[in-house]
Amino acid sequence: MTPSQAHRMSFLQRPRRETKSRVAITCGKEYAEAERMIDEALDLLGIERLCQAGENVLVKPNLCLPTPPEDGETTHPAVVAAVVKRAKQDGGRVWVGESCAWHFPMELVFEATQVRQAALDAGAEQVVDLGTCEFVEARVPNPRVMKTASIPKPVLDADVIINLPKMKNNFVTLTTLSIKNMLGLLRPDDRHPYHRTPMDMAWACNDIFKIIEHQHRLTLIDGIWGVEGATHAGPVCEPGVIIASEDPIAAEAIGNMIMGYHALESAQVQIGMKDDLGTGEPDEIDVVGARVEDVKHPFERCLMYYVSRYPNVSEYYGGTCQACVWPAVALPAVVDPEKKYAVVAGARVFIADKLEDLDEVYLVGTCACASSHQFEGYMDKVNAAKKVIKMPTCPGLTHTIEEPMGGVYDQAREGGFPELVLADGLAFIHLPDSVRPELVPEAVERREGRKKTWP
Ligand code: SF4
Repeated sequence: MTPSQAHRMSFLQRPRRETKSRVAITCGKEYAEAERMIDEALDLLGIERLCQAGENVLVKPNLCLPTPPEDGETTHPAVVAAVVKRAKQDGGRVWVGESCAWHFPMELVFEATQVRQAALDAGAEQVVDLGTCEFVEARVPNPRVMKTASIPKPVLDADVIINLPKMKNNFVTLTTLSIKNMLGLLRPDDRHPYHRTPMDMAWACNDIFKIIEHQHRLTLIDGIWGVEGATHAGPVCEPGVIIASEDPIAAEAIGNMIMGYHALESAQVQIGMKDDLGTGEPDEIDVVGARVEDVKHPFERCLMYYVSRYPNVSEYYGGTCQACVWPAVALPAVVDPEKKYAVVAGARVFIADKLEDLDEVYLVGTCACASSHQFEGYMDKVNAAKKVIKMPTCPGLTHTIEEPMGGVYDQAREGGFPELVLADGLAFIHLPDSVRPELVPEAVERREGRKKTWP
């Protein structure tokens, strides 16, 4: 063993896997080539059939928002159609299923993403809103964070599941390449508790994957177009790849490398390896088709604001989850240049002195509102401000359409900006360099009280 091999062994103390996982990479610039690329990828993997005749096949794309295919946010209809067509050729009964994290009606999502028509034209039996199906409590084998999970019945009834994630950045999980797509199998309200940190999300997604591991046939990443930079708000890029593997962890690791990250950089890969769901070690992966170095397409980083863009807003964080940073950096919803503000979030917040002379102090989240979670003297320092606005819900644990991010946006609603968190909030949490340029100016105008209309 060379010194560099010894170093690479150090991530997990376990014997090297005897059998390598195979990942296929195929290339093309247009979605008109999707079918050819997918057929080539399956050939490279040695997969002659996606299913046996008569089997129920569930195809799970990533359709997180009601956006058109050219926005790059959702699995492209041509990719869904090509996979449906292959499974139909093999004699499967094919369903396409998804639910929307943001509470948009799936009718709208299937329509906007063009997936319904594409899937039905390709021969799918049904396109199903997984959020409104019958749910069944399923046991998680070898559980880490959830012993059971409510899973849509059509998912549990499927003989074969094909995972079709999209190549995108995400400010919680870094990338959304593989296992993250499993979160869509939970009810929308069940999945939000896992949005606090990358580890919460990765452990949850891996546990959900364990429920369907025996049905999982293939993870196939749509990376012909992707979204770089900001979560749901970044520019579209064109990596021009399809990545496919029977090992979802290996598919994600190779996707990470193509996007310009370390193979093990996302928590999903590390935690998936620890739970033995696959491998992210490049030495244990046999890449077939295009070489990673030839298709590398470094994504713009998902660059975050950790401070307010306004000089009259001071920030105090300590032990703060990502889920609290999002609303915190977007508060106050409307900034008056004549006032002085502070935004406080997290458990055990560091505050040097009394917040005197401040007009408004926002305590974001349960942790910031509870003196029991804080250092001695915390409330005295906070209460020195003229006005303290408490938002005592946990944005990471509670997120419904009525109370986005745990209700911390009540302030925004009172100001007449009911949807601030869903779109403007994305513009505020990411540095302008990583957001689509057209989204920022209007969001800023609304925040500064100069514009009260919503597109
Ligand atoms: S309220 Fe506390 S636990 Fe909830 S997201 Fe904020 S920092 Fe995390």
